[in-house]
Amino acid sequence: MSQVRVRFAPSPTGFFHIGSARTALFNWLYARHTGGKFILRIEDTDKERNSEAFLNVILDSMRWLGMDWDEGPEVGGPHGPYFQSQRTGLYRAKLKELADKGRAYEKDGAWWLRLEGARTQAHDEHLKRDYEKVDSPPMVLDDLVRGRVERAEDRDFVIFRSNGEPVFHFVNVVDDIEMKITHVIRGEDHLSNTSKHVELFKAFGVEPPKYAHIPLILKTDGPGKMSKRDKGALIEEYQQRRYLPSAVRNYLCLLGWTPADGKEVLPIAEIVRQFELKDVHQSNARFDERKMSHVNALTLRGLPAAEFAALARPILAEAGVIDASVSDARLAEVLGIVQEKVVSLEHLPEFMGFFFSAEFRKDEGALANLTKKGGDPAARVRELLPALEAAEWSEPALEAAFAAVGAAHGRKPTDYFAPARFAVSGQGGGAHLLGVLRVLGRDATLARLRAYAS
Ligand code: GLU
Repeated sequence: MSQVRVRFAPSPTGFFHIGSARTALFNWLYARHTGGKFILRIEDTDKERNSEAFLNVILDSMRWLGMDWDEGPEVGGPHGPYFQSQRTGLYRAKLKELADKGRAYEKDGAWWLRLEGARTQAHDEHLKRDYEKVDSPPMVLDDLVRGRVERAEDRDFVIFRSNGEPVFHFVNVVDDIEMKITHVIRGEDHLSNTSKHVELFKAFGVEPPKYAHIPLILKTDGPGKMSKRDKGALIEEYQQRRYLPSAVRNYLCLLGWTPADGKEVLPIAEIVRQFELKDVHQSNARFDERKMSHVNALTLRGLPAAEFAALARPILAEAGVIDASVSDARLAEVLGIVQEKVVSLEHLPEFMGFFFSAEFRKDEGALANLTKKGGDPAARVRELLPALEAAEWSEPALEAAFAAVGAAHGRKPTDYFAPARFAVSGQGGGAHLLGVLRVLGRDATLARLRAYAS
């Protein structure tokens, strides 16, 4: 088979949302899986609605997600320019080609594609006009995702408007021909356009590409399609919230595709290896921000410690939690217990600031939980203190000290965990407590417990 050539063809008329990112990604995955080419083509014919700023957001987000393109803006390629706004001459020439063949004609100032087939006069109540109805056999499409789709165009349609601007269907097909696209992978919302596109391919005498219409992404609750206005819809948002691009990308892969063995968090090379269009789901995907955040947490956990530290240091420095005087070794100690628990890099300063300063924020909600039903956290800390003062500073020894205090006072050792955690960190949760005490160190821990108990 000839080399696979796929394209992502965004219109820069709005922010880059997860639906577009997922379409781009499935194209990219398929190109990388097959050793083919991934082309980025900018469909910017709508002069009023396109903007340079939106284009930059798209390019930026694609780079952030690691979707490199083989042909397109900035990298060029043999079929450029890759901006439709710069291809007007080509579209006019292709229109002429159809007109010369008798397959395009002018009416009311617009140019129409003439369908093949038997023509009968018809009247359209809705449009209140007469037109020629065409009896042509329905197009049968073997969509690589949807399976067999039948659809017929039964009337000629406009390909160049009376204002001289080409219509989306026309430029889309002309470019897919010129750029030698073999597979069109796009959102299911374009399925209804496909019969027009196939008619255009036939008019040009070109074999249409294979189509794969991928499922819609529904919003978290309810039946509707995820829109740009829904929370969590924009890729930029994840960038700003310091999600790992590899985690966002991993999550996007799961919107309409499942790895064969069900293991959902996996390296991109493995996804590329497994990705087949036939495995893309027919049913709609549902966006789930909690799952996205879970994938992010698992991805963070899986990072090599040095890589995690390299990401963490600038974030902590920017938040004023650490300065250059904090050694790599000390930072590594703290991160060593934090990495498995923190859900997002965004939370790191809040999550671990107390290791570096005794002036930490006290979580009122956590305190309320502690004192609920008459609990007295300060009393628990007072009971705990002597045992910790006497303990050797290791996790097993600290664990034994908690157990001994519990036994002595007729309580569970864990009754002491939350008060101790709150006293040293002001928090109701976080990294494993014994690890926190070990890494915080004997002096700081005892000083904070004493201050709290008094
Ligand atoms: N510019 C179209 C869009 O953004 C491209 C459709 C296609 O992939 O064919 O929806």
